[in-house]
Amino acid sequence: MTKSTILIVDDMVANIKVLGELLKDEYKIRLATNGEKALQISRSSNPPDLILLDVIMPEMDGYEVCAQLKTDKATKNIPVIFITAMDLEKDETKGLSLGAVDYITKPFSLPIVKARVKTHLELKHHRDILEDLSTLDGLTGISNRRRFDEILEIEWLRALRESTSLALLMIDIDHFKLYNDNYGHIAGDDCLKLVAKNLLDGIPRPADFLARYGGEEFAAILPMTDTKGAVTVGSSLIMHINALKIPHVHSLVSDQITISIGAASIIPDRRNSSVFLIENADNCLYLAKEGGRNRVESTDTG
Ligand code: GH3
Ligand code: MG
Ligand code: MG
Repeated sequence: MTKSTILIVDDMVANIKVLGELLKDEYKIRLATNGEKALQISRSSNPPDLILLDVIMPEMDGYEVCAQLKTDKATKNIPVIFITAMDLEKDETKGLSLGAVDYITKPFSLPIVKARVKTHLELKHHRDILEDLSTLDGLTGISNRRRFDEILEIEWLRALRESTSLALLMIDIDHFKLYNDNYGHIAGDDCLKLVAKNLLDGIPRPADFLARYGGEEFAAILPMTDTKGAVTVGSSLIMHINALKIPHVHSLVSDQITISIGAASIIPDRRNSSVFLIENADNCLYLAKEGGRNRVESTDTG
C-alpha cells in the first residue's frame, strides 16, 4: 500500500520538525510555513490525505486556510486537524465549526497526535471507498457520469486559476445499435467493457481522466492539453480500438468496432463555463460522425 501524505502547516519551523519527526516513518510528509503555500499544495494534482494545521500564523491564519479548503470541491474532503496553543472552548468550537475533524491543543502528547492522525486517515480511507462505489460505473468499472461532472468542475476551476488549457474528448462507439442487434445485448455489454478498459489504458497521463458518459459514449478530460495534444490523444485512441479488431460485420464503416471522437480545448475564462467545452466537443463528435466515423474532429475554442 502506498504511504498516505500528511501536510504539516506551521509558521514555526521548530513545530514542523517535531511533528515531522513523529510521523515521517509511517507517512510521506509535506511542509508549509504559511497559509498560501498550504492552499497551493492542497489544490495541486497531488493533494495530501490529511492536514495538520496551526491556527496562529501571520497573514493568513489557520481558520482562514480551513475555510478556504472547505469551500473548494477539490479540497473539501481533506481532513484538517488543528494543532494550536489556543485552548479556549470558543477557539475549539470555531475550528470544528469550520469543518475541521479534530482539534489538538499544545502542548500536545506525541502518542495522542499519532493515534488521532491514524484514526482520521482510516476514516478518510473508508469514506473514499464509499465515494468510489457511488462514482464508478457498474458495467465497465470506470468512473461514471456523476464523477465526470465533479472532475470536470474541479479541472475547469484549476485551469481557470492557472490559465492553462483544458481539453475534452467525447468518444462514441460507431453503429453500436447494429452491434447489439446482431450480436445480442450481452455481447454488447462485453464489448463496452473491453472498449472502456482499452480507452483507459490508452489515455497517456496520470492526470487524464476517463468516464462512461452514458450508453456507448465515453468522455476524457485532459488537463494542460491544447487542441493539438487532444487530437494526438484522440487519434491514438482510435488506432488503439482499431487494433483490437473486435468483429462488427454489420458496421457501415468497417468490419470491426470503431469509435468517433470530438475534441475541444479551451483556456477557461470567467465569461464561460464547462458546459461550453462539452457543447464544443459534442459538436465535433457530430462532425466526426457526419464525416464518415472512425475519426477525430476538433475545434479550438481558446
Ligand atoms: P452512431 O455511430 O451514430 O453512434 O450509431 P449508434 O448505433 O452507435 O448510436 P445510437 O445512439 O443510435 O445507438 C446506441 C446504442 O448503444 C443503442 C443502445 O442499445 C446501445 N447501448 C447503450 N448502452 C448500452 C449498454 O449498456 N449495453 C449494451 N449492450 N448496449 C448499450
Ligand atoms: Mg454510437
Ligand atoms: Mg451515442
